[in-house]
Amino acid sequence: MAEVEKLYVTYNEVHKLCQESAARILADINPQLMIAIGGGGYVPARILRSFLRQTGRPNIPIQAIGLSLYESLPETTNNATPGVPEVPGTRVTRTQWLDMSALGGMENIVGKRVLIVDEVDDTRTTLEYAVKELEKDVEAARQRLGSNEKTEFSIFVLHNKDKQKKGFLPKEMIDSGRYIAARTLGDAWINYPWEAVDIDEHDRLAAEAASRNAK
Ligand code: 5GP
Repeated sequence: MAEVEKLYVTYNEVHKLCQESAARILADINPQLMIAIGGGGYVPARILRSFLRQTGRPNIPIQAIGLSLYESLPETTNNATPGVPEVPGTRVTRTQWLDMSALGGMENIVGKRVLIVDEVDDTRTTLEYAVKELEKDVEAARQRLGSNEKTEFSIFVLHNKDKQKKGFLPKEMIDSGRYIAARTLGDAWINYPWEAVDIDEHDRLAAEAASRNAK
C-alpha cells in the first residue's frame, strides 16, 4: 500500500491561518457564538477568538462539542499514536454535547450567527453530523419559543481536503460563503502540533519539509 503523505503543521502556522481568515470571517459571518468540535477545533477556536475581538464588544463565547469518527489501526497502535494516520470509522460518536446552561439555554442560540470550528474537513462526515444535530436542537428550541428567527450556522476549518466527500453540508451555506477553509489541499495526513509528543521533532520535520519545498 502506498505511504500516505504526511504534513507537519506548526503552532505558528495554525496561528497565522486563524489570523489571515479572521477578516473574512468577520465580514461574511460575524459570529456571535463559536462551537468548537473537540479536540481539533479547540485551539483554532481560541486563537480565532483573539482576532475576532472587537473594541467595546465582549469576547465571543466558545462552546465545545466532542465528536469522534476516527479509530486507530488496532494492529499497530493501542491508541491514537501521534503521526500515525487513523482509519475512518463509519459512525460519528458524541463524546460531549452543548451545555448552554450558563448562556441562557438552547433558546439563546435561536436567531444567532454560530460558527462551528474544526481543524480539518476530511470526509465531511463529522461536519455534516454536527450541522444536522445542532440544527435539530435549535429547531426544537425555536419551536418551544414560538420564534420565527433563523439561526445561521457557518463553518471554519484550518484545512479542507480536496477529495470526494461522504458528508454533505447545506448548499445555501456553501453558496453564501459561510463555509471557510483557510487552506485547501490534497488527501495527505496532517500532523497538528497539539498531537505531537515531541514538539521539537515535529517542528524540525515541518522546517525540513518547508526547505525541501522551497528548492
Ligand atoms: P471527517 O469527518 O471530515 O472525515 O473527519 C473529521 C475528523 O477526522 C477531524 O476532526 C480529525 O479529528 C480527523 N482527521 C481527518 N483527517 C485528519 C488529518 O489529516 N489529520 C488529523 N490529525 N486528523 C484528521
